[in-house]
Amino acid sequence: MVKVNIPEIFAEDVFTDAVMQQRLPKNVYKQFKKSIEDGKDLDLATADVIANEIREWAIEKGATHFAHLFQPLTGVTAEKQDSFITAPKSDGSVMTAFSGKELIKGEPDGSSFPSGGLRATFEARGYTVWDTTSSVFVRHDAGGTTLLIPTAFYSYNGEALDQKAPLLRSMQVISDASIKLLRLFGNTTAKRVAPSVGAEQEYFLVDEKKFQQRKDLIYAGRTLFGAPAPKGQELDDHYFGTIRQRVAGFMKNVNEELWKVGVTSKTQHNEVAPAQHEIAPIYANANVAVDQNQVVMQTLKRVACQHEMKCLLHEKPFAGVNGSGKHNNWSLVTDTGENLLEPGSTPHENRQFLLVLASIIKAVDKYAGLLRESAADPGNDHRLGANEAPPAIISVFLGSQLEDIINQYIETGSASTSIAGGVLTTGSTALKDISKDATDRNRTSPFAFTGNKFEFRMVGSRDSIASPNIVLNTIVAEAFDEASERLANASDFDAEVDALIAEYAKAHNRVIFNGDGYAEEWVKEAEKRGLPNLKSYVDATEVLESEEVIALFDKYGVLSPTELKAREEVKYENYAKVIHIEALTMIDMAAKQIIPAVIKYTKSIADTVLAVKEAGSDASVQADILAEVSDLLKETKAALVALKEVTEEASEKTDVKVQAHFYNDVVFKAMGELRAPVDQLELIVDKEAWPMPSYGDLMFEV
Ligand code: ADP
Ligand code: MG
Repeated sequence: MVKVNIPEIFAEDVFTDAVMQQRLPKNVYKQFKKSIEDGKDLDLATADVIANEIREWAIEKGATHFAHLFQPLTGVTAEKQDSFITAPKSDGSVMTAFSGKELIKGEPDGSSFPSGGLRATFEARGYTVWDTTSSVFVRHDAGGTTLLIPTAFYSYNGEALDQKAPLLRSMQVISDASIKLLRLFGNTTAKRVAPSVGAEQEYFLVDEKKFQQRKDLIYAGRTLFGAPAPKGQELDDHYFGTIRQRVAGFMKNVNEELWKVGVTSKTQHNEVAPAQHEIAPIYANANVAVDQNQVVMQTLKRVACQHEMKCLLHEKPFAGVNGSGKHNNWSLVTDTGENLLEPGSTPHENRQFLLVLASIIKAVDKYAGLLRESAADPGNDHRLGANEAPPAIISVFLGSQLEDIINQYIETGSASTSIAGGVLTTGSTALKDISKDATDRNRTSPFAFTGNKFEFRMVGSRDSIASPNIVLNTIVAEAFDEASERLANASDFDAEVDALIAEYAKAHNRVIFNGDGYAEEWVKEAEKRGLPNLKSYVDATEVLESEEVIALFDKYGVLSPTELKAREEVKYENYAKVIHIEALTMIDMAAKQIIPAVIKYTKSIADTVLAVKEAGSDASVQADILAEVSDLLKETKAALVALKEVTEEASEKTDVKVQAHFYNDVVFKAMGELRAPVDQLELIVDKEAWPMPSYGDLMFEV
């Protein structure tokens, strides 16, 4: 076996700070760092020198092409590749070149990307701009080696057409607001605060040959039909179970590939559903984490193909077993290394932490709908509210220790004690007793405090984590600013901090919930508390129209009203398109594969009935099965006709919002009505006659 040395291979394909220092002239390196620190533009002469060094480095790595990586509103990464080739000289020879301009700015004709009306096809110009705080790297794949440059994507008029631009803006906003607050608490050293983000990514692996036999997996990324396998996830034997060798080999390659490009792949394990797994890197600054999560998703897909498997990133590839999400762990860390969400050992004495906490609670309560919206993805509608994922209702889990402190504030206006963690007695002399955390976990909470960070668990597995972080950064910045304003004018600082914590705790206590988020009673209780329960993607999208949300993003310059409106349109359009594709795929599969297969099968039973009768035996069992199958076939045909009709009706609607609602209310329902009889048929019809691999084949025979 080839030995893997992590420190040796880590970031070998990244133009890291160390490489930069080594290769760039001292003054150029200094200027580059300074431009980042001051948030100033890089002058072209400096950019030229950097670009030249990057080109030489990349060519040493084998690169022939470069590409600006950007994240349009599709949720995935896009790139346009250019080779380093120059025009031939008079003697016919060519050279390689890469200019500062090419490094800093790209101009993809991106008129086909969703822009929500921000850009008509005739004004196709869009610009990608290098994000100097996320490293340049090379990727090796079947297409050779490519230099990749993380960028943000803007329209000709400067409107953000992607996820990255508003994310970077929101990072500035939360940094400024945090520093303002820290100064009031006497911190004079921190210059910046960055949201730190760690994204845990869930995914499924299936065999490629079987994948290719399922049109639903090919077109929709999820199964649209499929009867449950005899075994599901009820034994919990897959969760954290031994990783199968084929999958282990895949994970090994994924890790190596990720380490090489500087992604700190850390944790891996089997997840709850059969064929489901998880990978998580160590957290990084939000923009880097967002970029790296895209790299993780791409790498999972690419390496799966090399292992003759397919990686499914859809939120609900299979009905009846858990879907996949992405836990977005979020905290705020100063450039001097202080985590504002670190409670310390006696949190009741840590006023700064408690005010930060109370402000976050306030922000999450005030903008619960917006936070829910940030995790809306068509596939996520299958998860949120189902029994494995957090409900569609936003609530905050604090754990017993912090909840107790918040309650002390509500009751008395201050806090005087912190519940201690205690000791876990192992009951055996062979095992040492261990100290316990002050707080247990709650897996059912959508927004849970886990020690020194919040974990937002609603995000879908396929989606970019940019939106939730844009929202978190901005809503918390507003809450911090409101607190700072009060504190700046306070005569007794500590008393005012206490007053604020108590005030926020009282006003927003309703969003705190430590119980079972999956329970039916919680839905009722939440309704009583007046918490929004936005069950579907289309319901959630409406939040983007609210005055409060428009004003928030506008005030902080994160998204202009025009940019926000565009995003709303893109969201409706996207939903309509996704459901349309799913409906057409079902129609295709039912009409061309399933119904013909069942017709053939009924013929074979009918032949048997006749033959058995002719032979003078009782054919009633065969006749019963024939009748049952024929009934279901009839139901299937009727449901197919109905689905065709409503899909056509949907596609004719011109208003995107009306259309999206129609797809959700009518088409989606009709899809369920077609699926039901087909899944029943699958349980009766001869396995040999069924035209595609079953759930059992897909999930248990990877
Ligand atoms: P768990 O979900 O079991 O708490 P971990 O503690 O391993 O798992 O963390 C999950 C993810 O959260 C990882 O990506 C980890 O790097 C990240 N993480 C840990 N601490 C922080 C923090 N302070 N801020 C943001 N992310 C963090
Ligand atoms: Mg977690």
